[in-house]
Amino acid sequence: MLNFEYFNPTKLIFGKGQIVRLAELVPAKARVLLIYGGGSIFRNGVYEQVKEALKHHEIIEFGGVEPNPHFETLMKAVMVAREQQLDFILAVGGGSVIDGAKFVSAAIKFEDDPVNLLRGQIQITDNVVPLGTVLTLPATGSEMNAGSVVTIAATQEKLFFAGPALFPQFSICDPGVVASLPPAQIQNGVVDAFTHVMEQYLTYPTSAFLQDRISEGILQTLIETGPEVVKHPGDYELAANLMWCCTMALNGLIQNGVPTDWVTHLIGHELTALYGIDHARTLAVIGPNLYRVMFTDKKEKLAQYGRRVWGLKGDDINTLAQLAIIKTIDFFHEMGVDTQLSGYTSDYAKSADIIVERFEQRGWIAIGERQHVTPDKVREIVEASY
Ligand code: NAP
Ligand code: FE
Repeated sequence: MLNFEYFNPTKLIFGKGQIVRLAELVPAKARVLLIYGGGSIFRNGVYEQVKEALKHHEIIEFGGVEPNPHFETLMKAVMVAREQQLDFILAVGGGSVIDGAKFVSAAIKFEDDPVNLLRGQIQITDNVVPLGTVLTLPATGSEMNAGSVVTIAATQEKLFFAGPALFPQFSICDPGVVASLPPAQIQNGVVDAFTHVMEQYLTYPTSAFLQDRISEGILQTLIETGPEVVKHPGDYELAANLMWCCTMALNGLIQNGVPTDWVTHLIGHELTALYGIDHARTLAVIGPNLYRVMFTDKKEKLAQYGRRVWGLKGDDINTLAQLAIIKTIDFFHEMGVDTQLSGYTSDYAKSADIIVERFEQRGWIAIGERQHVTPDKVREIVEASY
């Protein structure tokens, strides 16, 4: 096992009817910026619950944060917060709203041009406006982690930034919100969380036995519950299990003491930036092709995954590893998610060139858990996904 330091200060409040807890969680004297997305919270009752809980608080609302939140939109929220001297941010939404709120929280007091929060590869360690969240979509884990992904629409760049000051102070996770999700968003959530686990688990073996077993448990639970939640989104117990899987997949626990990959996400972000494909769907396109191209590095862990998660039998590592990739693709298809780029756009021919060029410009020339993913490999992975 590798050395690690574990820190997660987010207070997670999980369960039915927990939005009322906002009354005590948001400081009484706070001037609150309530950030939300395109309006789903008005249709599923979440907005009313939030307003009722905060009826004695001072609130300014900012709506319209789009999926894959735009820097340009978020800067408008930053201006509102600065003008009105707001000192607490409440994000009510999915990963996009929460990620967007993290950016706003870091940008309000940032003295330099806030675009450098995204481009400067800065660790956000202090000087943020405190943030709390009400999660409406199980998927990203953003409710309990210190990362955020923001798109600069003007240049079609989707960039990740992070730092310990970005952990939400609290997150309220009421699985009841799943009932109003369209099937496509449930499918996305399952595939995103699944891939988060794979990015941390499917690396090289380090004798991190417990982390492996927790990861395998999350994967198996996603396999068991994912297709069922799509069929029965109003089933609270199923929704609760999915929601907890998604949080656990990316709250830092399973990455302790293990090498992590993240190349599926890095390439996937480019496909969203270029073609507007949903985040999770880009991962379904890239993940299996990355496992194929990096087969030599990953086959041992792929075989373990095949045996333990999919119950495959046999001794031949190569065969088990190949079958495990096929099982993964079959599962994404069962979830209703296409795994080829041509299923989403016909305009993909230049994508490998563009992505390789961007990675080289950013100095990403040796990435992945062993730094074996070179520009040539990135090209091979993207071209295999056409
Ligand atoms: P999302 O983009 O936040 O939301 C997708 C859609 O679902 C929106 O149209 C939203 O509508 C709708 N929606 C949300 N909750 C709903 C509900 N309860 N009922 C009905 N509709 C609802 O989706 P997401 O998958 O959670 O987030 C994706 C983003 O997170 C991407 O930008 C991705 O890169 C990022 N991400 C972040 C991390 C991280 O660790 N920070 C990890 C992975 C991915 P409204 O806008 O109207 O609410
Ligand atoms: Fe993700």
